[in-house]
Amino acid sequence: MGGRSTRIAPLDPADAELFAAARLRAARLQPYLATAVFALVPVASPGLGTFAVDRYWRVYVDVETARAWGVEHTAAVLVHEAHHVLRDHHRRAEACGVTSTTHRLWNLAADAAINDDLIDDALPLPGGVLPRHLGLAPNGLEEAYYGDLLDDRDLHEERDEPAVEPPGCGSGSGGAPADGEIDDHPEESGVDGLDDVDAAAVRRAVAHDVTAAASRGECSSPGLVLWARDLLSPQVPWRNLLRTAIGRPVREVTRDPHVDWTRPDRRADSRPDFPRPGVRHRAPEIAVVVDTSASMDQSLLDAAATEINGLLRRSGVRTLHVVSCDTESARPQRVRRLGDLVLRGGGGTDLRVGIDAAAACRPRPSVVVVLTDGETPWPAAAPHRTTLVAVIIGEHAPLPVGPGITAVRITAPT
Ligand SMILES: [Zn+2]
Repeated sequence: MGGRSTRIAPLDPADAELFAAARLRAARLQPYLATAVFALVPVASPGLGTFAVDRYWRVYVDVETARAWGVEHTAAVLVHEAHHVLRDHHRRAEACGVTSTTHRLWNLAADAAINDDLIDDALPLPGGVLPRHLGLAPNGLEEAYYGDLLDDRDLHEERDEPAVEPPGCGSGSGGAPADGEIDDHPEESGVDGLDDVDAAAVRRAVAHDVTAAASRGECSSPGLVLWARDLLSPQVPWRNLLRTAIGRPVREVTRDPHVDWTRPDRRADSRPDFPRPGVRHRAPEIAVVVDTSASMDQSLLDAAATEINGLLRRSGVRTLHVVSCDTESARPQRVRRLGDLVLRGGGGTDLRVGIDAAAACRPRPSVVVVLTDGETPWPAAAPHRTTLVAVIIGEHAPLPVGPGITAVRITAPT
């Protein structure tokens, strides 16, 4: 940020030669990934002990380590780093609510998903974590692996960390930034790297190359083919995304024990002078804001409502607040489930009013889910101590971003 301008020093000629050789080899290992591999911007990182990648496609290269690996292994590692940025692990980690305390688990999940694919494609990786090392089934999605690792950690809170070395692939993997990572956005700082627009173009080009290779039988990474198909025809498994987006904050609430002075601790009998509060686990409070003035596909809306009902029932939520938000008003109601949603059509809604009304409900909701076509202004951040899950029904409106906001798009299968 600001006017700081960090220039990336070019690699020494001998190092540049090694990097070029490894990159060329990488492009041969997975030819359909060539556009991505050549988009990576190398940054010399002596002493890093490995390679890492940042979210702007800068790859941090420890040449000494690369020499020890040799060209073949280094090429496989470059492919691995390209997969992180190609699969948009940075943004997906954010969408999963990954924090500085869970970075490492996400990085493991992402590495396992990538390496699983690369091993299928017989890439010569110099080690690296695989799903089976973490007790996970093969061919899983990063988000699912991460959820499993989190659950596992919660079950064995006192247990030591898994006996796998922290991989530390950098911010481009959705993990913690690597040592010495340049944090500057390419556009603002003039430092080389790919911004979101460039990255999206590279992803699309690679997705085309992957599907073409797959149709010729030249790509044997099932995960990569799925990724490419999803990217080109967004039949995103939105149910999975919705489950993650709502399930995560809900689980956080259920997990936090609630200190309750109205139910004194029974053990306090022995020390009557020192009353202590009881502790109980609370059911999460959920509010759903429905944009009733929007023009949304009724079947998609019903599908979303069914999914949300199921999710909340499984989480022990008995009732929820529903705020119907049309052009005139935002009316909160207390209901047992999301029923048939009446849509009137029309426009001009400002859902911020509905979101405020939802956040003002008592008991205060910890999660506010918004069902909308997205044609509305959004708040800059989720309401205080609330997760805002924006469910955008339809293809066109942009997804909102901001602290505490997660967005899921629901589109019809094509
Ligand atoms: Zn990695």
